[in-house]
Amino acid sequence: MNIYNDADGVELGTVNNEEVLQLLECPVCLDHITPPMKQCIKGHLVCNECFPRLPHCPTCRSPMNQERNLAIEQIARLLKYPCRYYPMGCREAFILSKKGAHEQDCPYLQLKCPFHGQCAFNGSLKDVVPHLASEHAVTPVPVQPNGTLFYRAKHFYRRNIWTLIYQWDGNLFRFIVKHVHSSAIGRNENCNMLIAHVQYIGAESMASRYAYQISLFDTDSRQTGHKFEGLVTSTMKPLESQCSKEADIFVTTFHQAKNYTDQWANLNFIITMKKLEEDLATTPSGSTTSVTAPTPMESTPSTSSSTATPTPAPTSTPAAPVASTSS
Ligand SMILES: [Zn+2]
Ligand SMILES: [Zn+2]
Ligand SMILES: [Zn+2]
Ligand SMILES: [Zn+2]
Repeated sequence: MNIYNDADGVELGTVNNEEVLQLLECPVCLDHITPPMKQCIKGHLVCNECFPRLPHCPTCRSPMNQERNLAIEQIARLLKYPCRYYPMGCREAFILSKKGAHEQDCPYLQLKCPFHGQCAFNGSLKDVVPHLASEHAVTPVPVQPNGTLFYRAKHFYRRNIWTLIYQWDGNLFRFIVKHVHSSAIGRNENCNMLIAHVQYIGAESMASRYAYQISLFDTDSRQTGHKFEGLVTSTMKPLESQCSKEADIFVTTFHQAKNYTDQWANLNFIITMKKLEEDLATTPSGSTTSVTAPTPMESTPSTSSSTATPTPAPTSTPAAPVASTSS
């Protein structure tokens, strides 16, 4: 098979990763080319993003080739590529099979504005709080160490989305409430739904250390209802993808939720944060069961005593943007 056995004592040497990587630079966008690797009929490579827009080869003007270069794809899989956040300061490099996982969690990852979906902000975690203050006049609400907070979604019939940004356990979270149509979350019931979720502002690996419980609170009867326990996920993970069938987030129908609105048409939520045990949080299967562990809320019957803990005044409600997408 292989005529160059190790036993032959031939010194084959090693190839410099950086040198090979330089050969894999797209001549159009200057990014490193990753599989699938497209080429011209002569074999000049371009990246997969630029390929569809090229009438001919940018290097030699020959026609483009519809076939991929499988040999160079195999070589590329042996190489380390720099993290995509290199321009922001990350200096780590990974083989392609590991690169994606790191980028989900890279300390230099770029976060969208947690407050407003249409805001152009794109920055690292440390820039989020200054951005919220300067652009939206929003300061994250400090939550008591016991992790219980009260949120009033004001004007239930007049808005589509509510956002509360708060700080707990040294981290930033977002409580988001949204009106969506059932079809937007992959459900068959043809009706309007209400979804709510607690999200970690930052990387997914940090989010998985936290769980939460939310329930609706009827201010007239002093009863709680629609209790839901879930795992915190990152703001980078789209909400709608987590709602189908066995929901990972709070889902109820608009019809049921409106039974809880108070006389001013506000919908009141009680949220309890919970930090998962370190080992539970890192076990993929164990994390789901750990949510069912007793929480401070569970031992409390749904009477006024559970509402005595959160301050009677609702935490300051930022003027949440109105979503233009949901109906
Ligand atoms: Zn390109
Ligand atoms: Zn060419
Ligand atoms: Zn990185
Ligand atoms: Zn913003």
